Amino acid sequence: MPAATSLLPTAATVPSQAPAFSGWLDRRNGTLCADGVALSQIAVEVGTPFYCYSASVLRQRYTALAAAVSPVGVSVCFAVKANSNLNVLAEFARLGCGMDIVSGGEMERALAAGTPAERIIFSGVGKTRDEIRRALEVGLHQINIESVAELETVAEIAHAMGLRAPVALRVNPDVDAGTHAKITTARKDSKFGIAIGEIPALYARASAMPGLEVLGLAVHIGSQIQSLAPFQRAWSALADLVRELRDAGLTVARLDLGGGLGIGSETEPAPDLEAYARTIAETVGDLGCALNIEPGRWLAAPAGVLVTEVTYLKESSGADFAVIDAAMNDLMRPALYDAHHAAVPIHAPRPGSGPAWRLVGPVCESSDDFGSYPNLGPLEPGDLLVFGSAGAYGATMSSTYNSRPLVPEVMVDDGRFRLIRKRAEMDLFLELEKPSDWVAAANGVNVAE
Ligand SMILES: *Cc1c(COP(=O)(O)O)cnc(C)c1O
Repeated sequence: MPAATSLLPTAATVPSQAPAFSGWLDRRNGTLCADGVALSQIAVEVGTPFYCYSASVLRQRYTALAAAVSPVGVSVCFAVKANSNLNVLAEFARLGCGMDIVSGGEMERALAAGTPAERIIFSGVGKTRDEIRRALEVGLHQINIESVAELETVAEIAHAMGLRAPVALRVNPDVDAGTHAKITTARKDSKFGIAIGEIPALYARASAMPGLEVLGLAVHIGSQIQSLAPFQRAWSALADLVRELRDAGLTVARLDLGGGLGIGSETEPAPDLEAYARTIAETVGDLGCALNIEPGRWLAAPAGVLVTEVTYLKESSGADFAVIDAAMNDLMRPALYDAHHAAVPIHAPRPGSGPAWRLVGPVCESSDDFGSYPNLGPLEPGDLLVFGSAGAYGATMSSTYNSRPLVPEVMVDDGRFRLIRKRAEMDLFLELEKPSDWVAAANGVNVAE
Protein backbone atom coordinates (compact mmCIF):
# COMPACT_ATOMS: atom_id res chain seq x y z
CA MET A 1 0.00 0.00 0.00
CA PRO A 2 1.61 3.27 -1.02
CA ALA A 3 -0.03 5.63 1.37
CA ALA A 4 -1.22 3.84 4.48
CA THR A 5 -0.85 6.18 7.36
CA SER A 6 -1.51 5.98 11.01
CA LEU A 7 -4.09 8.17 12.66
CA LEU A 8 -3.01 8.09 16.24
CA PRO A 9 0.70 7.60 15.84
CA THR A 10 2.45 5.12 18.06
CA ALA A 11 6.13 5.09 18.91
CA ALA A 12 6.69 2.90 15.86
CA THR A 13 5.04 5.24 13.39
CA VAL A 14 5.91 8.70 14.67
CA PRO A 15 9.05 9.91 12.99
CA SER A 16 11.54 10.84 15.66
CA GLN A 17 11.49 14.50 14.73
CA ALA A 18 7.75 14.87 15.12
CA PRO A 19 6.59 13.95 18.61
CA ALA A 20 4.57 17.15 18.90
CA PHE A 21 2.24 16.14 16.08
CA SER A 22 0.78 13.15 17.87
CA GLY A 23 -1.03 15.31 20.38
CA TRP A 24 -3.93 16.88 18.55
CA LEU A 25 -6.34 13.94 18.69
CA ASP A 26 -7.02 12.52 22.11
CA ARG A 27 -9.85 10.95 23.99
CA ARG A 28 -11.37 13.01 26.78
CA ASN A 29 -14.30 11.70 28.81
CA GLY A 30 -14.47 8.82 26.36
CA THR A 31 -14.90 10.90 23.21
CA LEU A 32 -12.31 11.83 20.61
CA CYS A 33 -11.30 15.48 20.64
CA ALA A 34 -9.33 17.51 18.11
CA ASP A 35 -7.19 20.16 19.81
CA GLY A 36 -9.57 19.91 22.74
CA VAL A 37 -12.80 20.19 20.71
CA ALA A 38 -15.12 17.15 20.77
CA LEU A 39 -15.49 15.92 17.19
CA SER A 40 -19.00 14.70 18.06
CA GLN A 41 -19.94 18.28 18.94
CA ILE A 42 -18.67 19.55 15.58
CA ALA A 43 -20.66 16.75 13.90
CA VAL A 44 -23.83 17.97 15.60
CA GLU A 45 -23.23 21.51 14.38
CA VAL A 46 -22.07 20.97 10.80
CA GLY A 47 -23.33 17.46 9.98
CA THR A 48 -21.32 14.53 8.62
CA PRO A 49 -19.19 13.90 6.71
CA PHE A 50 -16.81 16.81 7.30
CA TYR A 51 -13.10 17.57 7.13
CA CYS A 52 -11.43 18.90 10.25
CA TYR A 53 -7.98 20.51 10.28
CA SER A 54 -5.80 21.65 13.14
CA ALA A 55 -4.36 25.14 12.75
CA SER A 56 -1.67 24.41 15.33
CA VAL A 57 -0.52 21.24 13.53
CA LEU A 58 -0.36 23.12 10.22
CA ARG A 59 1.83 25.73 11.89
CA GLN A 60 3.99 23.12 13.63
CA ARG A 61 4.56 21.22 10.37
CA TYR A 62 5.70 24.35 8.51
CA THR A 63 7.86 25.54 11.38
CA ALA A 64 9.58 22.16 11.78
CA LEU A 65 10.29 21.77 8.07
CA ALA A 66 11.49 25.34 7.63
CA ALA A 67 13.76 24.96 10.66
CA ALA A 68 15.29 21.80 9.17
CA VAL A 69 15.96 23.17 5.68
CA SER A 70 16.65 26.86 6.24
CA PRO A 71 20.19 26.22 7.58
CA VAL A 72 21.01 24.86 4.10
CA GLY A 73 19.47 27.93 2.47
CA VAL A 74 16.19 26.40 1.33
CA SER A 75 12.84 28.19 1.32
CA VAL A 76 9.52 26.35 1.47
CA CYS A 77 6.59 26.73 -0.94
CA PHE A 78 3.40 24.86 -0.07
CA ALA A 79 1.94 22.86 -2.99
CA VAL A 80 -1.52 24.41 -3.02
CA LYS A 81 -3.17 21.46 -4.75
CA ALA A 82 -2.75 19.40 -1.57
CA ASN A 83 -5.16 21.65 0.36
CA SER A 84 -6.30 24.89 -1.21
CA ASN A 85 -8.74 26.11 1.45
CA LEU A 86 -8.09 29.84 1.92
CA ASN A 87 -7.91 29.46 5.68
CA VAL A 88 -5.27 26.74 5.42
CA LEU A 89 -3.24 28.80 2.95
CA ALA A 90 -3.51 31.81 5.24
CA GLU A 91 -1.98 29.84 8.14
CA PHE A 92 1.07 29.08 5.99
CA ALA A 93 1.25 32.50 4.31
CA ARG A 94 1.28 34.24 7.68
CA LEU A 95 4.43 32.29 8.59
CA GLY A 96 6.23 33.40 5.42
CA CYS A 97 5.62 30.21 3.46
CA GLY A 98 5.57 30.58 -0.34
CA MET A 99 3.13 28.73 -2.62
CA ASP A 100 3.53 26.36 -5.55
CA ILE A 101 0.51 26.57 -7.83
CA VAL A 102 -0.64 24.59 -10.87
CA SER A 103 -3.57 26.66 -12.18
CA GLY A 104 -4.99 30.15 -12.40
CA GLY A 105 -7.53 29.19 -9.75
CA GLU A 106 -4.78 28.28 -7.33
CA MET A 107 -3.04 31.57 -8.16
CA GLU A 108 -6.15 33.52 -7.09
CA ARG A 109 -6.40 31.46 -3.90
CA ALA A 110 -2.73 31.96 -3.01
CA LEU A 111 -3.01 35.71 -3.58
CA ALA A 112 -6.32 35.95 -1.70
CA ALA A 113 -4.74 34.15 1.25
CA GLY A 114 -2.17 36.93 1.49
CA THR A 115 0.82 35.32 -0.21
CA PRO A 116 2.98 37.98 -1.88
CA ALA A 117 3.25 37.33 -5.64
CA GLU A 118 7.03 37.16 -5.31
CA ARG A 119 6.65 34.02 -3.18
CA ILE A 120 4.54 32.13 -5.74
CA ILE A 121 5.88 29.61 -8.26
CA PHE A 122 3.71 28.47 -11.17
CA SER A 123 4.14 24.79 -12.13
CA GLY A 124 2.05 22.56 -14.41
CA VAL A 125 2.11 21.17 -17.96
CA GLY A 126 -0.79 23.04 -19.52
CA LYS A 127 -0.79 26.70 -18.52
CA THR A 128 -3.15 28.62 -20.77
CA ARG A 129 -2.36 31.97 -22.36
CA ASP A 130 -4.76 33.68 -19.96
CA GLU A 131 -3.07 32.07 -16.97
CA ILE A 132 0.38 33.06 -18.24
CA ARG A 133 -0.73 36.65 -18.85
CA ARG A 134 -2.21 36.90 -15.37
CA ALA A 135 0.95 35.40 -13.82
CA LEU A 136 3.06 38.06 -15.55
CA GLU A 137 0.66 40.85 -14.61
CA VAL A 138 0.76 40.04 -10.91
CA GLY A 139 4.52 39.45 -10.97
CA LEU A 140 4.91 35.86 -9.80
CA HIS A 141 8.33 34.77 -8.57
CA GLN A 142 8.81 32.12 -11.25
CA ILE A 143 7.10 30.17 -14.01
CA ASN A 144 8.33 26.59 -14.39
CA ILE A 145 8.40 25.65 -18.05
CA GLU A 146 7.36 22.13 -19.02
CA SER A 147 7.79 22.06 -22.82
CA VAL A 148 9.31 23.84 -25.80
CA ALA A 149 5.86 24.97 -26.91
CA GLU A 150 5.14 26.47 -23.51
CA LEU A 151 8.53 28.20 -23.46
CA GLU A 152 7.79 29.88 -26.79
CA THR A 153 4.31 30.91 -25.65
CA VAL A 154 5.57 32.47 -22.42
CA ALA A 155 8.34 34.30 -24.30
CA GLU A 156 5.88 35.65 -26.86
CA ILE A 157 3.34 36.84 -24.30
CA ALA A 158 5.97 38.46 -22.07
CA HIS A 159 7.61 40.18 -25.04
CA ALA A 160 4.24 41.56 -26.17
CA MET A 161 3.69 42.89 -22.63
CA GLY A 162 7.12 44.50 -22.65
CA LEU A 163 8.32 42.21 -19.85
CA ARG A 164 10.85 39.49 -19.26
CA ALA A 165 9.22 36.42 -17.74
CA PRO A 166 11.17 34.87 -14.83
CA VAL A 167 11.37 31.19 -15.81
CA ALA A 168 12.98 27.91 -14.79
CA LEU A 169 13.03 24.81 -16.98
CA ARG A 170 11.47 21.74 -15.39
CA VAL A 171 13.80 18.82 -15.94
CA ASN A 172 12.62 15.24 -16.25
CA PRO A 173 15.65 13.46 -14.75
CA ASP A 174 14.36 9.97 -15.60
CA VAL A 175 14.31 8.80 -11.98
CA ASP A 176 11.82 6.29 -10.61
CA ALA A 177 10.57 7.67 -7.32
CA GLY A 178 9.63 4.19 -6.08
CA THR A 179 6.08 5.25 -5.30
CA HIS A 180 2.61 4.39 -6.67
CA ALA A 181 2.48 4.55 -10.51
CA LYS A 182 -0.20 7.27 -10.38
CA ILE A 183 1.96 9.61 -8.30
CA THR A 184 5.32 9.16 -10.01
CA THR A 185 6.25 11.98 -12.37
CA ALA A 186 9.86 11.68 -13.50
CA ARG A 187 10.22 8.53 -15.52
CA LYS A 188 11.14 8.92 -19.19
CA ASP A 189 7.59 8.31 -20.39
CA SER A 190 6.00 10.79 -17.96
CA LYS A 191 4.13 13.82 -19.32
CA PHE A 192 6.01 16.11 -16.92
CA GLY A 193 9.10 18.19 -17.60
CA ILE A 194 11.65 18.31 -20.38
CA ALA A 195 13.96 15.34 -21.00
CA ILE A 196 17.26 16.01 -19.28
CA GLY A 197 19.22 15.47 -22.51
CA GLU A 198 17.32 18.28 -24.24
CA ILE A 199 17.92 20.86 -21.54
CA PRO A 200 21.37 22.26 -22.48
CA ALA A 201 20.38 23.28 -26.01
CA LEU A 202 17.00 24.61 -24.88
CA TYR A 203 18.48 26.51 -21.93
CA ALA A 204 20.94 28.24 -24.26
CA ARG A 205 18.19 29.08 -26.72
CA ALA A 206 15.87 30.37 -23.98
CA SER A 207 18.62 32.52 -22.48
CA ALA A 208 18.85 34.39 -25.78
CA MET A 209 15.09 35.07 -26.06
CA PRO A 210 14.14 38.69 -25.35
CA GLY A 211 10.91 37.85 -23.44
CA LEU A 212 12.60 35.60 -20.91
CA GLU A 213 14.79 35.84 -17.86
CA VAL A 214 16.06 32.27 -17.50
CA LEU A 215 16.80 31.78 -13.83
CA GLY A 216 17.34 28.09 -13.33
CA LEU A 217 15.95 24.58 -13.19
CA ALA A 218 13.15 22.69 -11.45
CA VAL A 219 12.43 19.03 -10.72
CA HIS A 220 9.54 17.21 -9.04
CA ILE A 221 9.81 13.45 -9.19
CA GLY A 222 6.63 12.23 -7.51
CA SER A 223 4.70 12.07 -4.27
CA GLN A 224 4.67 10.12 -0.97
CA ILE A 225 8.37 9.30 -1.42
CA GLN A 226 9.56 7.41 1.67
CA SER A 227 13.20 6.91 0.76
CA LEU A 228 15.78 9.62 0.23
CA ALA A 229 17.54 7.68 -2.54
CA PRO A 230 15.33 8.90 -5.43
CA PHE A 231 15.76 12.51 -4.25
CA GLN A 232 19.50 11.96 -4.03
CA ARG A 233 19.61 10.64 -7.61
CA ALA A 234 17.43 13.42 -9.03
CA TRP A 235 19.26 16.25 -7.28
CA SER A 236 22.68 14.83 -8.17
CA ALA A 237 21.62 14.73 -11.81
CA LEU A 238 20.44 18.32 -11.42
CA ALA A 239 23.80 19.38 -9.95
CA ASP A 240 25.67 17.77 -12.85
CA LEU A 241 23.40 19.61 -15.24
CA VAL A 242 24.06 22.94 -13.51
CA ARG A 243 27.82 22.42 -13.89
CA GLU A 244 27.38 21.52 -17.55
CA LEU A 245 25.29 24.64 -18.21
CA ARG A 246 27.76 26.86 -16.38
CA ASP A 247 30.66 25.34 -18.33
CA ALA A 248 28.77 26.43 -21.44
CA GLY A 249 28.74 30.00 -20.10
CA LEU A 250 25.08 29.99 -18.98
CA THR A 251 23.77 31.44 -15.72
CA VAL A 252 21.92 29.19 -13.27
CA ALA A 253 20.79 31.12 -10.20
CA ARG A 254 17.84 29.11 -8.83
CA LEU A 255 16.95 25.46 -8.24
CA ASP A 256 13.42 24.31 -7.40
CA LEU A 257 13.81 20.87 -5.84
CA GLY A 258 10.12 19.89 -5.95
CA GLY A 259 7.85 18.28 -3.38
CA GLY A 260 7.13 14.64 -2.72
CA LEU A 261 8.40 14.20 0.83
CA GLY A 262 6.48 11.25 2.28
CA ILE A 263 4.65 11.12 5.60
CA GLY A 264 5.37 7.48 6.40
CA SER A 265 3.00 4.55 6.45
CA GLU A 266 1.99 1.75 8.77
CA THR A 267 5.07 -0.14 7.61
CA GLU A 268 7.60 2.58 6.82
CA PRO A 269 8.66 5.65 8.80
CA ALA A 270 8.69 9.06 7.14
CA PRO A 271 12.11 10.20 5.98
CA ASP A 272 14.01 11.97 8.73
CA LEU A 273 13.96 15.74 8.25
CA GLU A 274 17.60 16.25 9.15
CA ALA A 275 18.64 13.55 6.65
CA TYR A 276 16.41 15.16 4.00
CA ALA A 277 18.10 18.53 4.59
CA ARG A 278 21.52 16.84 4.51
CA THR A 279 20.69 15.22 1.16
CA ILE A 280 19.92 18.67 -0.24
CA ALA A 281 23.16 20.07 1.15
CA GLU A 282 25.22 17.18 -0.21
CA THR A 283 23.77 17.26 -3.72
CA VAL A 284 23.10 20.91 -4.59
CA GLY A 285 24.30 22.78 -1.51
CA ASP A 286 27.61 23.99 -2.93
CA LEU A 287 26.31 25.49 -6.19
CA GLY A 288 25.49 28.91 -4.81
CA CYS A 289 21.92 28.70 -6.13
CA ALA A 290 18.81 29.98 -4.38
CA LEU A 291 16.98 26.79 -3.39
CA ASN A 292 13.36 25.97 -2.67
CA ILE A 293 11.20 22.90 -2.05
CA GLU A 294 7.47 22.42 -2.76
CA PRO A 295 5.97 19.98 -0.25
CA GLY A 296 2.22 19.51 -0.16
CA ARG A 297 1.38 16.26 1.58
CA TRP A 298 4.06 16.51 4.26
CA LEU A 299 2.80 19.90 5.46
CA ALA A 300 -0.94 19.23 5.38
CA ALA A 301 -1.86 15.53 5.47
CA PRO A 302 -1.25 14.86 9.19
CA ALA A 303 -3.14 18.04 10.11
CA GLY A 304 -6.51 16.81 8.81
CA VAL A 305 -9.12 14.12 9.40
CA LEU A 306 -12.38 13.17 7.72
CA VAL A 307 -15.26 12.45 10.09
CA THR A 308 -18.05 10.15 8.92
CA GLU A 309 -21.10 8.41 10.37
CA VAL A 310 -21.99 4.72 10.06
CA THR A 311 -25.29 4.49 8.17
CA TYR A 312 -25.89 0.73 8.05
CA LEU A 313 -24.24 -2.51 8.99
CA LYS A 314 -24.62 -5.21 6.37
CA GLU A 315 -23.45 -8.80 6.38
CA SER A 316 -23.11 -10.34 2.97
CA SER A 317 -21.31 -13.51 1.84
CA GLY A 318 -19.09 -13.54 4.86
CA ALA A 319 -18.04 -9.87 4.60
CA ASP A 320 -19.03 -7.44 7.33
CA PHE A 321 -19.75 -4.15 5.62
CA ALA A 322 -20.16 -0.91 7.48
CA VAL A 323 -21.79 1.50 5.04
CA ILE A 324 -20.65 5.02 5.95
CA ASP A 325 -21.85 8.44 4.80
CA ALA A 326 -18.43 9.44 3.37
CA ALA A 327 -17.64 8.18 -0.11
CA MET A 328 -15.06 8.16 -2.87
CA ASN A 329 -16.28 11.56 -4.04
CA ASP A 330 -15.34 13.02 -0.63
CA LEU A 331 -12.00 11.20 -0.22
CA MET A 332 -10.79 9.85 -3.52
CA ARG A 333 -7.39 8.47 -2.55
CA PRO A 334 -8.43 4.88 -1.77
CA ALA A 335 -10.22 4.55 -5.14
CA LEU A 336 -7.54 6.39 -7.12
CA TYR A 337 -4.28 5.29 -5.48
CA ASP A 338 -5.22 2.18 -3.46
CA ALA A 339 -4.45 4.29 -0.39
CA HIS A 340 -5.49 3.03 3.03
CA HIS A 341 -6.43 5.69 5.57
CA ALA A 342 -6.29 4.52 9.18
CA ALA A 343 -9.58 4.97 11.05
CA VAL A 344 -10.69 5.08 14.67
CA PRO A 345 -14.14 5.40 16.27
CA ILE A 346 -14.95 8.59 18.16
CA HIS A 347 -16.57 6.60 20.97
CA ALA A 348 -14.64 4.88 23.76
CA PRO A 349 -13.57 1.28 23.06
CA ARG A 350 -16.43 -1.21 23.53
CA PRO A 351 -16.08 -4.69 24.99
CA GLY A 352 -15.55 -7.42 22.41
CA SER A 353 -13.39 -7.42 19.32
CA GLY A 354 -15.92 -7.01 16.48
CA PRO A 355 -15.33 -8.25 12.94
CA ALA A 356 -12.84 -6.92 10.37
CA TRP A 357 -15.12 -4.24 8.97
CA ARG A 358 -15.11 -3.33 5.28
CA LEU A 359 -15.84 0.39 5.21
CA VAL A 360 -17.75 1.29 2.07
CA GLY A 361 -19.52 4.43 0.89
CA PRO A 362 -22.93 4.85 -0.73
CA VAL A 363 -21.67 5.73 -4.24
CA CYS A 364 -22.62 3.35 -7.04
CA GLU A 365 -19.09 2.17 -7.83
CA SER A 366 -17.30 -0.94 -6.58
CA SER A 367 -14.22 1.23 -6.00
CA ASP A 368 -16.14 3.22 -3.37
CA ASP A 369 -14.42 1.09 -0.77
CA PHE A 370 -12.06 2.31 1.98
CA GLY A 371 -10.75 -1.21 2.67
CA SER A 372 -10.59 -3.56 5.62
CA TYR A 373 -10.53 -2.35 9.24
CA PRO A 374 -9.96 -5.15 11.76
CA ASN A 375 -9.49 -2.96 14.85
CA LEU A 376 -12.62 -0.81 15.09
CA GLY A 377 -14.36 -3.11 17.59
CA PRO A 378 -18.12 -3.60 17.59
CA LEU A 379 -19.92 -0.89 15.57
CA GLU A 380 -23.50 0.38 15.56
CA PRO A 381 -25.37 2.57 13.09
CA GLY A 382 -24.90 6.20 14.11
CA ASP A 383 -21.32 5.69 15.27
CA LEU A 384 -18.85 8.33 14.18
CA LEU A 385 -15.52 7.30 12.66
CA VAL A 386 -12.45 9.38 11.86
CA PHE A 387 -10.11 8.80 8.91
CA GLY A 388 -6.59 10.09 9.50
CA SER A 389 -4.04 11.75 7.20
CA ALA A 390 -6.84 13.46 5.32
CA GLY A 391 -5.46 17.01 5.36
CA ALA A 392 -3.88 16.65 1.89
CA TYR A 393 -5.50 15.53 -1.36
CA GLY A 394 -8.80 15.05 0.48
CA ALA A 395 -11.12 18.04 0.11
CA THR A 396 -9.23 19.34 -2.94
CA MET A 397 -9.89 16.15 -4.92
CA SER A 398 -13.53 15.86 -3.91
CA SER A 399 -16.35 16.01 -6.45
CA THR A 400 -20.13 15.96 -6.50
CA TYR A 401 -20.34 12.53 -8.17
CA ASN A 402 -23.72 10.90 -7.52
CA SER A 403 -24.96 14.45 -6.88
CA ARG A 404 -23.52 14.46 -3.41
CA PRO A 405 -22.90 17.92 -1.89
CA LEU A 406 -19.30 19.01 -1.25
CA VAL A 407 -18.64 18.38 2.42
CA PRO A 408 -17.89 21.16 4.90
CA GLU A 409 -14.40 21.91 6.21
CA VAL A 410 -13.72 22.96 9.78
CA MET A 411 -10.61 24.38 11.48
CA VAL A 412 -9.88 23.80 15.13
CA ASP A 413 -7.61 26.32 16.76
CA ASP A 414 -6.84 26.95 20.39
CA GLY A 415 -9.77 24.94 21.79
CA ARG A 416 -12.33 26.41 19.38
CA PHE A 417 -13.57 25.53 15.92
CA ARG A 418 -14.87 27.47 12.96
CA LEU A 419 -16.46 26.51 9.67
CA ILE A 420 -13.96 27.29 6.90
CA ARG A 421 -16.03 25.99 4.00
CA LYS A 422 -19.78 25.64 4.07
CA ARG A 423 -21.36 22.50 2.73
CA ALA A 424 -22.07 23.17 -0.97
CA GLU A 425 -25.71 22.10 -0.98
CA MET A 426 -27.80 20.90 -3.91
CA ASP A 427 -29.68 24.20 -4.38
CA LEU A 428 -26.38 25.75 -5.48
CA PHE A 429 -26.01 23.15 -8.24
CA LEU A 430 -29.68 23.32 -9.22
CA GLU A 431 -29.21 27.06 -9.63
CA LEU A 432 -26.05 26.70 -11.75
CA GLU A 433 -27.81 24.23 -14.03
CA LYS A 434 -31.08 26.10 -14.40
CA PRO A 435 -32.34 25.56 -17.95
CA SER A 436 -32.66 28.63 -20.17
CA ASP A 437 -36.22 29.92 -20.54
CA TRP A 438 -36.87 28.54 -24.01
CA VAL A 439 -35.67 25.02 -23.14
CA ALA A 440 -37.67 25.11 -19.95
CA ALA A 441 -40.80 26.26 -21.78
CA ALA A 442 -40.42 23.49 -24.37
CA ASN A 443 -40.00 20.92 -21.61
CA GLY A 444 -42.81 22.32 -19.51
CA VAL A 445 -40.39 23.08 -16.66
CA ASN A 446 -41.28 25.95 -14.39
CA VAL A 447 -38.23 28.22 -14.05
CA ALA A 448 -40.02 31.02 -12.22
CA GLU A 449 -37.96 32.43 -9.38
C1 LIG B 1 1.99 17.87 -6.56
C2 LIG B 1 3.21 18.66 -6.68
C3 LIG B 1 3.96 18.96 -5.53
C4 LIG B 1 3.61 18.47 -4.16
O1 LIG B 1 3.76 17.09 -3.99
P1 LIG B 1 3.63 16.46 -2.52
O2 LIG B 1 3.85 15.01 -2.73
O3 LIG B 1 2.27 16.77 -2.02
O4 LIG B 1 4.70 17.06 -1.70
C5 LIG B 1 5.07 19.77 -5.69
N1 LIG B 1 5.45 20.24 -6.91
C6 LIG B 1 4.75 19.95 -8.03
C7 LIG B 1 5.21 20.49 -9.34
C8 LIG B 1 3.62 19.15 -7.96
O5 LIG B 1 2.94 18.87 -9.07
